[in-house]
Amino acid sequence: MSRSAVRRIVLAARPHGRPQLSDFRLEEAALPEPGAGEVLLRVLYLSLDPYMRGRMNAGRSYAKPVELGEVMTGEAIAAVLASNHPEYHEGDVVLAGTGWRTHAALNGSALRKIDPSRAPLTTRLGVLGMPGFTAYGGLHAIGKPQPGETVAVAAASGAVGSLVVQLAKIAGARSVGIAGGPEKCAYLTTELGCDAAVDHRDPDFPRLLAAACPAGIDIYFENVGGAVWQAVLPLLNDHARVPVCGLIAQYNAVRHEGPDRLPATMREILSRSLTVRGYLNYEFLPDYFDAFLRDVGAGVCEGRIRYREDIVDGLENAPQKFIDMLDGKNFGKVLVRVARAET
Ligand code: NDP
Repeated sequence: MSRSAVRRIVLAARPHGRPQLSDFRLEEAALPEPGAGEVLLRVLYLSLDPYMRGRMNAGRSYAKPVELGEVMTGEAIAAVLASNHPEYHEGDVVLAGTGWRTHAALNGSALRKIDPSRAPLTTRLGVLGMPGFTAYGGLHAIGKPQPGETVAVAAASGAVGSLVVQLAKIAGARSVGIAGGPEKCAYLTTELGCDAAVDHRDPDFPRLLAAACPAGIDIYFENVGGAVWQAVLPLLNDHARVPVCGLIAQYNAVRHEGPDRLPATMREILSRSLTVRGYLNYEFLPDYFDAFLRDVGAGVCEGRIRYREDIVDGLENAPQKFIDMLDGKNFGKVLVRVARAET
């Protein structure tokens, strides 16, 4: 391997609204030498996740922004090429916060070893990884689905939502998926077992959603915000629970547009005793991670829990794939195959 073998994608400019390809820059650099306690990694699969859009902005958030010129943040499945850490050896496969690059030298203490024989490697970035846990933790800790209740799920064909709709069914609830377009809606009912699916791009969406939820909505799993939330709010039953997991419809917003709906929303929260609770998945790790691995791990291995991946080849294609995901063009968990495991 040549000394200038590492490719990486850095933040070239902060987006104003929807990200552009020019906000990213592909660079080459020398392969790093692993220092004391470090492990040299070759990235196999990089995960692209909506939260990365927030990291491209300056300013205060729950996590530090990516600086201009810095490698885009991200988690990956990687193979160990060389190790100065006693717990890792050449050929091991790990979960690592490498960012958007082909190789990285990281401290061994920041890695998690993966057993490749248990489930396909890619599942550790999706249904058995952070998005899957986000679905499990939010639905169980906040939603608390009961048999016979109606659970409506936004972005229901995606990495998080596709597991939420299935977990709702497992809990004995009625599962209503919301997704963009007929193909995704068909997938929800035929593959994921949703009792109904509603296309939020249909101009008649509010009425169609109401028709799909004749007994109202007891749990609304919020992944998008915006117009979908506006259609859901009037349908929420007394004591409904709303795990606020994500607001992807708003991530590219530059300024608030439209009327101020907050007073009316607060009135609904009060008068219908709603629980609207935001969360970041890791807050539930101590209480729910073991149960997640047991329940969802078994469901995936036995084929009872389905998942879908949307994989693009080549690190250089990550920026376009990321922009497409924010536009809803992905169909399943978005991954970049950076290198093949066998090469
Ligand atoms: P998905 O795989 O669901 O991909 C994003 C999807 O969002 C798109 O495919 C699209 O689906 C939908 N979408 C995009 N724009 C809009 C819009 N304007 N209106 C309605 N839907 C839209 O992504 P993830 O499953 O990875 O993430 C889902 C949500 O969960 C995100 O908001 C993310 O930020 C959040 N999240 C939160 C975490 C936490 O700890 N709180 C952790 C992980 C994720 P469609 O075509 O159906 O519209």
